[in-house]
Amino acid sequence: MTSPQTTTGTRVGIVGAGPAGLMLSHLLARAGVDNIVLDRRSHEEISHTHRAGILEQPSVDMLTQTGVDGRIGELGDEHEGIDLRFGGESHLLHFPELVGATVTLYAQNEVFVDLAAARARDGGDVRFETEVTEVLDVDSDRPGVRFRSLADGADPDEVHELRCDLLIGADGSRSVVRRALADGGSQDLSHEYPFAWFGILAEAPKSSPELIYARHERGFALISQRSETVQRMYFQCDPGEKPEDWSDDRIWSELQARVSGPDGFELKTGPIFDRTVLPFRSFVRQPMSRGSVFLAGDAAHTVPPTGAKGLNLAFADVRVLADAILAWADTGTREKLDGYQDTALRRVWKAQNFSFWMTSMLHTRADATAFENRRILGELESVTGSRFGMQHLAEQYTGWPNS
Ligand SMILES: Cc1cc2nc3c(=O)[nH]c(=O)nc-3n(C[C@H](O)[C@H](O)[C@H](O)COP(=O)(O)OP(=O)(O)OC[C@H]3O[C@@H](n4cnc5c(N)ncnc54)[C@H](O)[C@@H]3O)c2cc1C
Repeated sequence: MTSPQTTTGTRVGIVGAGPAGLMLSHLLARAGVDNIVLDRRSHEEISHTHRAGILEQPSVDMLTQTGVDGRIGELGDEHEGIDLRFGGESHLLHFPELVGATVTLYAQNEVFVDLAAARARDGGDVRFETEVTEVLDVDSDRPGVRFRSLADGADPDEVHELRCDLLIGADGSRSVVRRALADGGSQDLSHEYPFAWFGILAEAPKSSPELIYARHERGFALISQRSETVQRMYFQCDPGEKPEDWSDDRIWSELQARVSGPDGFELKTGPIFDRTVLPFRSFVRQPMSRGSVFLAGDAAHTVPPTGAKGLNLAFADVRVLADAILAWADTGTREKLDGYQDTALRRVWKAQNFSFWMTSMLHTRADATAFENRRILGELESVTGSRFGMQHLAEQYTGWPNS
């Protein structure tokens, strides 16, 4: 192994500057715990990656009550419900009436911009364009990583080392830290889906005040939003679909077909400026830690986007992890650190169940029998046909109380 050019030390090393990594860094720094964050992407790239948008109230509170001072109060759009649409009819689930809660639409890239600005304001050490290539000594009390700079002009063969007391893998679904933790006792539990989402961003007015989750015999569609003038929409597609094969007209007519009905509902259309095919799966790595190395967010678990839980779970993980790290930093005891994964996994599995349920109930399968297709309509009718049914969905969509 070549010797590193430099070796740096810190208390907590964090791989990944997504919502999990940056929020953890922010919470630790507020309490005076030294940490360094490494991310292989540039600030520019992350701030232009369009992903999540729906924040549960506790996620909003984490941004507004911990001194992030972002723009969520100004740009966030509070939503009081969703429309479940099937058989060509919409059924409004009004969250405040059902469970006394709301969700807020605030794009993940804006969350990133706010968190990165807060870390910069507070003198945080967040290194972009810095790729972790190797994880070192996971079973020691001083684990570490090797990394290299991807910045223009940097020598890609020059490696550096970071050593820390605790190492956190917040490096997303293809986590290099997770790979290094695999051993005979770890389990990767997953479920694959035979479909993906075709996602677009369009310059258009809102089509509806609330998000529409539609099940149609042609497949699922989600009519979501970004702002008054930019809309985010998705429709179920084959994972092998190529975005370039779809003209604007073809996309609009597919989306319209999936939300059409006797009420004459019509989408408001406009130029499409972003189109992507997003495959997804349900995945959990257990345990979420080994020795002094911990996983958080998508590095430990991913959910299909149908339940809007991924970013919220990432925040929920680091809420528990930050609390455990602060207890360890204060007292030197590991009790809370050792309990991290049990606490986090309880919420993770509830979110896995909800995301699986929403996905199965709203998507169509080519191999489904006529019985199955009719049964699902019965399921949707039982959800929307009673207050208890609607409450069951609303409670899960808006999120469970903090553990
Ligand atoms: C289309 C879509 C819609 C979604 N909608 C929602 C929603 O409405 N609500 C919701 O809650 N969730 C949603 N999600 C999920 C959400 O985006 C993710 O769960 C969230 O990004 C997880 O955050 P994270 O910090 O764990 O991981 P990430 O955001 O993936 O961040 C990981 C970071 O690690 C970095 N990294 C990876 N490998 C390395 C390495 N070797 N070295 C250095 N850095 C590395 C990456 O560059 C990345 O910046 C959606 C996802 C998609 C794709």
